[in-house]
Amino acid sequence: MIYELAGVTRSFRSGDRRVEALGGVDLRIDAGEHVAVTGPSGSGKTTLLQLLGALDKPTSGSLHFDGRDLGALRERELTGLRLRGVGFVFQQFNLVPTLTARGNVEAALDPLRLRRAERRRRAHERLDEVALGDRAGHLPSQLSGGEQQRVAIARALASEPRVVLADEPTGQLDQAATDAIAGLLGSLAGERTVVVVTHDLGLAARAPRVVQLRDGRVEADGASDSVVGLAAVELPVRDVEAARAWYRDVLGLEPGGGVELVPGEGPRGGRVWLEVPDLERARRRLAAAGVECDEDMLLTDPDGNRLGLRAPAHGG
Ligand code: ADP
Ligand code: MG
Repeated sequence: MIYELAGVTRSFRSGDRRVEALGGVDLRIDAGEHVAVTGPSGSGKTTLLQLLGALDKPTSGSLHFDGRDLGALRERELTGLRLRGVGFVFQQFNLVPTLTARGNVEAALDPLRLRRAERRRRAHERLDEVALGDRAGHLPSQLSGGEQQRVAIARALASEPRVVLADEPTGQLDQAATDAIAGLLGSLAGERTVVVVTHDLGLAARAPRVVQLRDGRVEADGASDSVVGLAAVELPVRDVEAARAWYRDVLGLEPGGGVELVPGEGPRGGRVWLEVPDLERARRRLAAAGVECDEDMLLTDPDGNRLGLRAPAHGG
């Protein structure tokens, strides 16, 4: 086991208000696992990831990393752990614009005080691993978004960490680049532990295990198909209000009364995902309304909006 969290809370003070970002999280993650952490905006995903990366400490509860209680470690030990134990990948790549791909990866190795040749060798190895060996001399501005994120992943791998933590890694990428990054992150698991935070349920479903947060608590935790239900669950919708009206008027599925529409976020425009307490009932209703949908329960409304239905997290 690489992570063990028991009763972890994290609250923030803003003015005289107290925000409880995590409200008692119990979680165990085995070494080598590939876990997606999902949930709506504000559900505590980033807060949880920062705790896993030792960038932050719980307000209460305990967090063990590789058998060590992070709450009991001294600042120097925590710094070492951040440098060598975990690699971070962020939505905004965060590459140094004036450094080449290789320079960015080498920069992450600076604190390890390696010899120059060893630094260079490692940087090349990591860039090869993300299939960018032939772009080592390129500046970030000369790379596509997907390539920049691959450099950022190579950088995260530079210190050969046991854990890779990614926060909305595909939030700025198009679908093709998203697929490539999702595949790459998945391929890193096994040798390392990979935790990917995303509100994109389609991306989350790429991980074998999904932990779903809601209001700072674990709402569901299990095999991805049992948690997110279907692979394609959050789909671009041009007009959330039109989609809502269509569901209500055509299908008789009222938000709150069978279907919940949640406006999504991200650069790909408005998105909704639908939470259906009773998937079978929804299927029957759709069939009765003469709505064609494929086996993934994807449908297309008259405006060409593609919609998906999401199975309940736990059974019926
Ligand atoms: P997510 O990543 O799922 O969108 P976050 O973990 O960023 O959610 O935030 C969870 C909650 O904690 C939100 O209500 C957010 O406003 C609050 N929060 C997070 N970080 C801070 C902070 N540094 N100060 C105050 N509130 C914060
Ligand atoms: Mg976040």
